[in-house]
Formats: sequence, C-alpha cells, structure tokens
Amino acid sequence: MSHDVVIAGGGPNGLMLACELSLAGSHPIVLERLPEVTERYRANGLIGQVVRLLDHRGLYQRITGTPEPPRPVPAFTFGALPLPLEDVPDNPLHILPVPQRRLEEVLEQRAAELGVEVRRGHELTGFTQDGAGVDVDVAGPDGAYRVRADYLVGADGGHSLTRKLAGIDFPGVTNDVTVTRTAHVTVPAGIRDPLTGGLTVPGYGHIPPFLHHRTERGLIGYAPFRDRPALLFTIEWDGSAVSDEPMALAELRESAHRVLGVDLPLTPPDGEGPHMLRRVLGGNTRVAERYRDGRVLLVGDAAHVHAALGGPGLNLGLQDAANLGWKLAAVLRGTVGPDLLDTYEAERRQASERVVMHTEAQSVLISPGPAVTALRTLFGEFLATPTNRAHVAATMAGSDIRYTDSPNPLTGYFLRDLPLSTADGPVRLAELARPARPLLLNLVGDPIITKAAAPWSDRVTLVDAKADIPVTAILIRPDGYVAWATDTPTVDGLQEALTRWFGAPA
Ligand SMILES: Cc1cc2nc3c(=O)[nH]c(=O)nc-3n(C[C@H](O)[C@H](O)[C@H](O)COP(=O)(O)OP(=O)(O)OC[C@H]3O[C@@H](n4cnc5c(N)ncnc54)[C@H](O)[C@@H]3O)c2cc1C
Repeated sequence: MSHDVVIAGGGPNGLMLACELSLAGSHPIVLERLPEVTERYRANGLIGQVVRLLDHRGLYQRITGTPEPPRPVPAFTFGALPLPLEDVPDNPLHILPVPQRRLEEVLEQRAAELGVEVRRGHELTGFTQDGAGVDVDVAGPDGAYRVRADYLVGADGGHSLTRKLAGIDFPGVTNDVTVTRTAHVTVPAGIRDPLTGGLTVPGYGHIPPFLHHRTERGLIGYAPFRDRPALLFTIEWDGSAVSDEPMALAELRESAHRVLGVDLPLTPPDGEGPHMLRRVLGGNTRVAERYRDGRVLLVGDAAHVHAALGGPGLNLGLQDAANLGWKLAAVLRGTVGPDLLDTYEAERRQASERVVMHTEAQSVLISPGPAVTALRTLFGEFLATPTNRAHVAATMAGSDIRYTDSPNPLTGYFLRDLPLSTADGPVRLAELARPARPLLLNLVGDPIITKAAAPWSDRVTLVDAKADIPVTAILIRPDGYVAWATDTPTVDGLQEALTRWFGAPA
C-alpha cells in the first residue's frame, strides 16, 4: 500500500508533523521504533514562541488543563544571568512547563484523533528514492516489510538514520569537556527555602529555583516541581576526570560540593521510581548541511542539535514541523509545486542558526574562570537596559525570526495573539487558527479584499473582524506567520502572496 508521507520517528517533532499534515488533508503514517512512550528524561518545558503555536492548535489548553491563553513570564535567565522581563514592552517570552513524556502523550492522542496511524515497534532500516516516491524498509514486530510513500520525513532524532542514509552531512562541533550530572533528589527540609522554592545552603547561601547558578568552579541548578520529584544538576568542565562506573547519587553530591565549596546533602526521592540518575559527557552542536534531499526531508533534532541551555530544542523542532506540514500537504495535493519545499529550509535554517548562536554564547557565559566572570559583569551591565533584555528575550523566544523581507513591518513575522471582534462575537486569533488553515483577516470590511481573495476561498478562510493593529488586512499562514499585510485600502501584492503560498487561483 502507498502512503503520501512516511514519518520516521514518533518523538515530539514527528508526532507534531503528523498532526499538521493531517490537519492540512494528508494521510501520514509514523514509524516509531519504541513500542511505547518511554520515560526518557529530556525536556521539562517549552520555551518561546512554540507556546503560542500550541495555543493556535488548542494543545496548550490540553496540556495545562485550563481554557486560559498563555501569558508571558515575568523573568527568565540567559547564560545563568538574571533576565527580568516585567518592564519589557510586548514581552515575547512564554514558557509551558511540561515533561516531554506528557507532551508526546498529548501529541500522540491528538494524532490518533486526526486518524494518523502511529506504528510503534516499527523501525526504519533503509530507503531508496526515485523520481516518484520513496521505498522505505521497515523492521516491524512481525518481520521486515517495505512501504512506498510520496515523501519520507526523518524525525528520528540527533542520530537520524534517515539523515545518514540520505548522505546529508551534519557539520558542527563536539564538546568533550563538560560533564553534566542530573538526578531526581530530595534535599533536607532545612535547606529548602519555602519562600523562594530554592535552596539556602549552609556556608554557601541562596540558590534560586529553576535557574542556572554559576560559581567560579561550575554550574548548579535546582528545580522543585509540584507534581514530580525535584531535579538537581551540575555542570563541570573536566571531562577527563569522568569514571566509567554508572552514575550514583554520591557522585552528584561530590560534584555539588566541588561547585559550591560546601556539602549539599542529597537523598533519593520518596516513592516508586524510576528516578533519573544521569551523567552526560560533552555534547554536540550541529546543523544538517541540507534539510532536504529530493523526496526526503528532516525535521527537529534530525536537522539540528545544540546545547540545551535555555531549553530551545522544541521551540525549534515543533515550529519546523508546523512550517513543513502545510507546505508538504499542499505539494501533495498538487496545488503548489515542490519548489515550495525549498522555503522550508530557507526559513527554518535561520531559526536553527540563531539557536546555535545563543546556546553557544550561553555556553561561554556559564563556563568557569575569571575572564568569563569579567565578561559576565559587562554582559550583566548591558542587561540592565530594557531594550537589551527585550532583544535577548526575542532571541530566546525565536520571535526575532523574520521569513520575508517586506515593506510592511508585520510581514514575515509570527503574529502575536490578538483579540478580534467579529459578527459572531469576540474571538482570539489563536482560536481562529485551530483548524490550521490560512486566514485572511479583513479588518475594515473592504469588499475589494473579499473580491480579490475569492478564487482562493477553497483554501483560505476569510474573516471580517476588527482588531487593534495598524493594518487594514492581513494574510496569516497556517504556521502563524504573516504572508502579507497592508495598511492602505489596496490589495497590492495580495494575489501574488496567495499564489506564492497557496497556489494558483481556482
Ligand atoms: C537532557 C535534555 C534536556 C532537554 N531539555 C529541553 C527543554 O527543557 N526544552 C526543550 O524544548 N528541549 C529540551 N531538550 C531537547 C529536546 O528533548 C529535543 O529537541 C527533542 O526530543 C527532539 O525531538 P525529536 O522528535 O526531533 O527527536 P527525538 O525526541 O529524539 O525523537 C526521535 C524519535 O525517533 C525514534 N527513532 C529513531 N530512529 C528511528 C528509526 N530508525 N525508525 C523509527 N523510529 C526511530 C526514536 O525512538 C525517538 O522516539 C532537551 C534535551 C535533553 C537531552
């Protein structure tokens, strides 16, 4: 049987892509080698514009269990420096605390609702592509088999076999110096600070919660979660001193002692495990040389890996999926040519390059030594200015990414959420975006907009609304980015934008 898209990898980005393709009318299948969602301790939260994207799909509300929209955070951290954001106008930084396992469960449930077949226990082992499609070799629980698809997407993580078999290089750097030790822990009540949620360590002082805390010898962080065991981690810069023994809690305690200069008593968390106990040596910062080879594409960690500082991984990967989903579905439908897929890499590569830039910058800012301390002092002085903090917040949120250069200042950017007033009552932009269709907002009720867009009415939802933004009409792509906007009573460029992104008029 032939499928339109085979997605190799049912991690968060593969599942998100499956949902996006499905919403856009495609019928993907997902091959996931693991038989079930496992307790792999990875992301603890989503940071940045992706939180707004999940609001667009109603997934934010599924995860939080409330109908409320996301709100920006009052403060965050950059390179273990405080980043207060309350005085930053239009603060773009949103955070959704959610363990990756829960995110994957929600995405898999959504994919199932949309009719996506997720084949667990099925591993991509090879593929060959020709001009018309891809033959994918699979090892399943009942043996090997082959599926044919129009396109194959590798969402199979940083060690992506899809990327390797496609012959796509993964240039970058490997750091073999840092040692990161992480464990679920219980810290004695006398050291836990009930006011801040952080720690007050005798002989050392206060360690705020959820932030990276640097000393001259290393980094430490403590995250007390409400519904799961607290996490403690350290980073040290002496990879050569690592033992081959499995990590033990005593090793983390010794590391915390070296970083703080005093003892920090730790015991395993109460209750049933499994509890995390992990030592990671070094890490990779790499971006795929190409995101596409003919009918094979890469998303998420298969396309880029970087330090986890500031937690940007899923902000990047889930937005890759949202960028690719509607484009690939349109190509499969035949409403646009395959050249549209080139814009996927052009747009998303700049996002990954920004993440590489800011995680590398943070890696330097957290490292030990007096020269770095001096750099931090200077950088901290820059962060005293709200404009500079706004710049850093936008970098971390990914809201500084602009896809298209255009005279209209909104075009090319992700459009922030807006309250809209329509004939059916008030609605938020994010609520209108739930079906993941292109939206054309006619904000002055001008009939020339309606007339100009009429030949695309099978693909584009036209909404008459009022909103407090300085444009008269705005065309928003399914991934939330502005394809076209005008502040004059003209339709110049509208039909070109509709054709470019959504195909020729019907
Ligand atoms: C310690 C740590 C902390 C992190 N913290 C954060 C954070 O706080 N916030 C954040 O946003 N990001 C964080 N990240 C990054 C985030 O976890 C990754 O960016 C994310 O997992 C990437 O998702 P993915 O779907 O691209 O790849 P993966 O999650 O790696 O999923 C790939 C899937 O493909 C499957 N697979 C692999 N090969 C095959 C094959 N041949 N056939 C079929 N299936 C295959 C795998 O089993 C896996 O399920 C963290 C990462 C680490 C390691």
